[in-house]
Amino acid sequence: MPLRAVIFDLDQTLLDRTASLGAFLKWQTDGMLKPDLESPPEFISRFVELDNNGRVWKDVVYQRLIEEFAINGWKTEELLAVYESCFCAFSVPRIGVDQAIGELAGSYFLGLISNGKSPFQERNFRALGYSSSFDSIIVSEAVGLRKPDPEIFHLGCSELNVDPKEAVFVGDSPVADISGAREAGLATIFVPTELNPSCEEADETCEDMSYLPAAIAKLGELQ
Ligand SMILES: [Mg+2]
Repeated sequence: MPLRAVIFDLDQTLLDRTASLGAFLKWQTDGMLKPDLESPPEFISRFVELDNNGRVWKDVVYQRLIEEFAINGWKTEELLAVYESCFCAFSVPRIGVDQAIGELAGSYFLGLISNGKSPFQERNFRALGYSSSFDSIIVSEAVGLRKPDPEIFHLGCSELNVDPKEAVFVGDSPVADISGAREAGLATIFVPTELNPSCEEADETCEDMSYLPAAIAKLGELQ
């Protein structure tokens, strides 16, 4: 069966979360938290540590930071609300993503499946500017399913009207993205990061996303 659909993960796949978070935190510490902080870089590195690559939600992170840095001017829920509404203003794509989406959009149905909060993740995705090329946008909290559950991949395929065998999933998490998509019957392309530099289980690996269309074409020929 030829490939007809490409479904993407968001964080560290389409969105360069490290760069986006760094830019947001620089704005927050240089601006609103300036009077409360002696050392913004220390606050930023502690945030990144507590965040644990996005696994810990920011209510917990800000609560700890307010205690550890003795911040008096802001409450946890206020800093959390700023994170939720302003992070999208700092969304930047991973290298090569602009080019890849531009090339793929005419030839494949495109979808997104992200584990995360809703509408936070939808906003971060929309800010990248690709929404008009995507036919399915799924965020785990909104649908009550999470990767690696095969059901969420099947939902993505059904929203694109394709069989799982006609779809490839592109993501950076060996378990949530690659194992999950494989189990659901999709082809897989792994996107390496510092945290997860390799994944043998994936059908292909693609670091510079400008090569993604070629990697997908190659997979299509093998099928
Ligand atoms: Mg990811």
